[in-house]
Amino acid sequence: MYRTKNNGELRIDHVNETVTLAGWVQKTRDKGFMVWVDLRDRYGITQLIFDEERTSKDVMDMASKLGREFVIQVKGTVIERESKNKNIPTGEIEVLVSKIVILNESLTPPFTIENETDGGEDLRMKYRYLDIRRAPVRKNLEFRHKVTMAVRNYLSAKNFVEVETPYLIKSTPEGARDFVVPSRMNEGEFYALPQSPQTFKQLLMIGGMDKYFQIVKCFRDEDLRADRQPEFTQIDCEMAFVEQEDILQTFEGLTRHLLKEINGVDVETFPRMTFDEAMMKYGNDKPDIRFGMEFGELNAVTQHKEFNVFNKAELVIGIAVPGGNNFTRKEIDQWIEWVRRPQIGALGMVYCRYNDDGSFKSSVDKFYDQEDLAAWAKATGASPGDIVFILSGETNKVRAQLSALRMQIAEKLGLRKAQEFAPLWVVDFPLLEWDEETKRYHAMHHPFTSPKPGQMELLKSDPGAVKANAYDLVLNGNEIGGGSIRIHNKQIQAQMFDYLGFTPEEARAQFGFLMDAFEYGAPPHGGIAFGLDRLVAILGGQETIRDFIAFPKNNAGRDVMIDAPAPIDPEQLKELHLQLQRKP
Ligand code: ASP
Repeated sequence: MYRTKNNGELRIDHVNETVTLAGWVQKTRDKGFMVWVDLRDRYGITQLIFDEERTSKDVMDMASKLGREFVIQVKGTVIERESKNKNIPTGEIEVLVSKIVILNESLTPPFTIENETDGGEDLRMKYRYLDIRRAPVRKNLEFRHKVTMAVRNYLSAKNFVEVETPYLIKSTPEGARDFVVPSRMNEGEFYALPQSPQTFKQLLMIGGMDKYFQIVKCFRDEDLRADRQPEFTQIDCEMAFVEQEDILQTFEGLTRHLLKEINGVDVETFPRMTFDEAMMKYGNDKPDIRFGMEFGELNAVTQHKEFNVFNKAELVIGIAVPGGNNFTRKEIDQWIEWVRRPQIGALGMVYCRYNDDGSFKSSVDKFYDQEDLAAWAKATGASPGDIVFILSGETNKVRAQLSALRMQIAEKLGLRKAQEFAPLWVVDFPLLEWDEETKRYHAMHHPFTSPKPGQMELLKSDPGAVKANAYDLVLNGNEIGGGSIRIHNKQIQAQMFDYLGFTPEEARAQFGFLMDAFEYGAPPHGGIAFGLDRLVAILGGQETIRDFIAFPKNNAGRDVMIDAPAPIDPEQLKELHLQLQRKP
């Protein structure tokens, strides 16, 4: 046997036992007559001791040659430590080594492989296999495993079947570009990697699978934003013979189970909010409801005076920052500067202090009296000691700006507590979204989403007002899942493609297989997909998904460890019938 124990399991009860251990040398301390080695594996660290008086000369010599990250196997006796280390579970013992084998040597690693490392992000990504040896990274991967196991167990117990769907497919419209794979055998033809298994899971419902799930990779070629991965993992689910309510309850159940099993948290309610309400109250379709600061609409109480900035604005809204009257003038100026940054784009911000004695002091006292300011406080729910921050402008823009400010303030005031969980269903999304660039409506979710019952007629007269049978699950201000009840009728699906600007030929070429399948007894169905990477990060109390992915890509979409993407051989290009267009 390579090892009789791992490096995390020896305790005081094991004293006098002979053990064989294997692992990596994390650290050595060489005093000449005595050498200590911290031996690491996935399970922990065990201290080895080599002692001139009790260890043979050749073993002693080898011990003094050990470098960081050498892989060794040792045999020895468990003894009680003289100076105990209360910080690690094996801290009461050490192993007095009698035999050592160097299984492999190591170059000096480019960064220290300890909980706190001196390695920067780039270096750690390049040597990700070394980074994974560090306990925090390893624990994140183990944590992810625990979450996926809990998902699988829960859904299996509820009769869901995990079915694999293909990766080499045809475009699935989820609103991003496809990654494509040229076909060697079919000149000039390409596969697309799935942006999601959407069409396949619908076909599985037509196939009678009834309850499907899959923990599955999806690929989207999007312009990269911070903390987005071109390939990511979904918990993809679909059910037949369901309405929206069935889906919400089933996946509320899953989320509850995860929060309990993984975090030990009982969540009492999963409140529901319409998209319109979320936009009005939080300026955001994935509001963090762990804290207040709901928007107050102020048009009625601001547009009756001579202050033109407000008078000409489509919308004037404000939030009451709890305890914000403590902000110094300088701090307020910093917040004003913050909203004026190009990324936020506000032109300015009005504020109103609510003093403890009930009086108000605003930055626009020239225009408004105490009675006006009291009305602002009322509309934003401010109490004495708060400050009201007010933005104005075009509805969508000003909502986005105030939403960003609200989140930033909450972050600063420590209101976004990692171990507090507030799920929320956002329902009744618009079916369509106007795209200024193409001057066309796009499906907000995807083109297979059905309108709310009775709304099909509205599509002609007022397409923008049609609500979809679509829902998102939001957790702590992050969209962790989204789905819809699907269209399962060929004519309606054809009409939908028509509204979305597909010619019948285009619709047939891309989705003929699905429309045909609808003609063979497609049951009513619907589903949802969770973003696993983000879900795991949130349950783990963190926000960076990269930390929970074994081999992530960087912000430029590159894998810096294997150096991908990379050019391919001219031979290979030829085989694939491809030619590179080079600049002359
Ligand atoms: N396929 C959808 C997505 O990837 C999820 C769904 O509608 O079930 O967002």
